[in-house]
Amino acid sequence: MPRVLILGGTGDARVLAALVAGRYDVVSSLAGRVRSPLLPVGEVRIGGFGGVPGLVSYLRSSGVSAVVDATHPFAAGMTSHAVQACALARVPLLVLRRPGWVEGPGDRWVRVPTHTAAAAALPSLGSRVLLTIGRQELAAFAACVSPWFLVRSVDPPSAELPPHSQVLLSRGPYTLDGELALLREHRIDVVVTKDSGGEATYPKLAAARALHLPVLMISRPPVPAVRSAPTPAEAAEWLASVLSTGAG
Ligand code: NAP
Repeated sequence: MPRVLILGGTGDARVLAALVAGRYDVVSSLAGRVRSPLLPVGEVRIGGFGGVPGLVSYLRSSGVSAVVDATHPFAAGMTSHAVQACALARVPLLVLRRPGWVEGPGDRWVRVPTHTAAAAALPSLGSRVLLTIGRQELAAFAACVSPWFLVRSVDPPSAELPPHSQVLLSRGPYTLDGELALLREHRIDVVVTKDSGGEATYPKLAAARALHLPVLMISRPPVPAVRSAPTPAEAAEWLASVLSTGAG
């Protein structure tokens, strides 16, 4: 069976691994950032590859025939490495990226390009903040001294936090009722999020809309010009096409 590498860390990566298990010899790769990660079916390797050279060497030594980069839309470093390494090792690559969220009637979104820009825009939008950006970029908000933050993340943050903050450890998926209750309980008046896309964490946006709250939406980093697909099913079709023809 051809060997397929799925660069994971997302729900879509787990769905894809389950879809193609048995058809290919699948190995899923995780960065190892989360203490107790949700694991895909099949073989899993954990930890960085050692940059582009490390990934090239892994692709060659493991006999990988195709790679699907199903990392999070904000994992731009891994995606850039995958693009470079797959070109060097001449292995076909597909980037699996779920679509970003789309603003609808009743939404009050303010789009910003970076976490730093979000921190700068925040004080003009509210004073009690639900900060749902994961752990890695929290330092961008450390200098926001006046607002109060409810910082939600899967694992405890290691970065410096804003002076007035409370940490809420939790992992989605979330529900509209649950998010409404959370926003009301903490008297949240602005929500800060990355444009991760997907349904699991969408209810916070529906809840913000229902309560007429502004949302600071951090835009995605640019995607390299490579072949991409929006769903695991389409990624599975791509795998079937490249692995039956050997084409990239
Ligand atoms: P990143 O900044 O793009 O990557 C930094 C380094 O982490 C990469 O150069 C690579 O190390 C290693 N790495 C990242 N993803 C990997 C994977 N799937 N398998 C093996 N090594 C990986 O990535 P990140 O933003 O820290 O994200 C890390 C992981 O968390 C990814 O798997 C991503 O899907 C998941 N995740 C990220 C976010 C987010 O907001 N960034 C949210 C949810 C889940 P080497 O250079 O040593 O190979």
